[in-house]
Amino acid sequence: MKIAVLASPADEPRVAAIPETVKKFTGLGADVAVEAGAGERAGISDSDYREAGATIGDRTSVLKGAGAILVVQGPDADEVSGMEKGALLIGALDPVNRGDAVKAYADAGLEALAMEWMPRITRAQSMDILSSQSNLAGYKAVVDAASAYGRAFPMMMTAAGTVSPAKCFVMGVGVAGLQAIATAKRLGAQVSATDVRSATKEQIKSLGAKPIFVESVEGIEGEGSGGYAGEMSDEYRKAQAELVSSHIAKQDIVITTALIPGRPAPRLISDEQLKTMRTGSVIVDLAAEAGGNVEGCVAGETVERHGVKIIGAVQLSRTLAGDASALFSRNLYNFLSAYWDEESKAPAWPEEDEILPAIRLTEDGKVVNERLTS
Ligand code: NAD
Repeated sequence: MKIAVLASPADEPRVAAIPETVKKFTGLGADVAVEAGAGERAGISDSDYREAGATIGDRTSVLKGAGAILVVQGPDADEVSGMEKGALLIGALDPVNRGDAVKAYADAGLEALAMEWMPRITRAQSMDILSSQSNLAGYKAVVDAASAYGRAFPMMMTAAGTVSPAKCFVMGVGVAGLQAIATAKRLGAQVSATDVRSATKEQIKSLGAKPIFVESVEGIEGEGSGGYAGEMSDEYRKAQAELVSSHIAKQDIVITTALIPGRPAPRLISDEQLKTMRTGSVIVDLAAEAGGNVEGCVAGETVERHGVKIIGAVQLSRTLAGDASALFSRNLYNFLSAYWDEESKAPAWPEEDEILPAIRLTEDGKVVNERLTS
């Protein structure tokens, strides 16, 4: 099979294959063709790809005869020309917001696979682009907070006196939150964290941070369904608001990451609560694109309210394009290689499978995913 790797649009510095995955694909017997300049913004030159065994060409030549097309973002509806009927289109295709493009993939006869809909099962962990990119976002949120904060993170004992450690509170302890805790600890902050899922308590402790949990009302026992949180009762929300109010007044840095699949992000910090925070405190809201966990947060901007900087973080993994591309590319390789058929040197889908129906958007000219059709 020929695998095409396309260059990303102007606002997307990541790329869907790195020399390491090119080498692995060629090792499986695939031919890999990379669009010229595709890796440039991730620090990978065309000659790096060539050395790994890829050919380099313009989009038309790269797409010609390709049975799989790897992208970071899905192409627009008017960009599918040149893609071969029956080819796999694999990447973060954003199907909910890009209905027109999905329809165009179906019309072009592509088999589009949305990697962000990968089920959260053990087998698919290494294929999960949301986890790999969230991990980097959690790290970068803390680095950005540290650079916006006008003080140091660690305690420092100097001849001129002691610098107190920053107090950092992480709200939402999924993949991004855990990495945020670990990063803030490494930088020397005093870290506390909260979540609605009881399973996270031990994880917080194991990273050396302090769990801050609502105890009066029951949260979500264990991991929650598929690892995801649901919407909480009014009673829980009230208890959480009280807990947060008393805690955030003493914090310098707050990182919020709380998401509920298919719903707007839960509101965790109100304007009234912001007023209680110290002047100069910094909040990074990783849920900004889903409406924000913090009242007044604006996606993609830093706003100041009551002396508190609120950073509406968007797609932070893009700011670490080299590592983000490497993890994203390995996710795609892990997915395709898990289905690889040695004889045909192409992926072969089994009859029964938990992953494919979850991520497949289009097949045989039709939109087939039940999240889009029901
Ligand atoms: P997420 O991005 O959906 O949400 C971030 C965090 O916010 C979650 O921990 C969630 O519980 C929390 N949250 C939601 N509402 C909240 C509220 N009102 N207050 C406080 N916190 C709130 O989560 P995620 O990062 O994708 O990870 C969630 C879990 O799923 C983790 O345990 C993770 O390890 C697991 N997971 C498993 C796989 C796999 O097995 N393949 C893949 C990805 C994630």
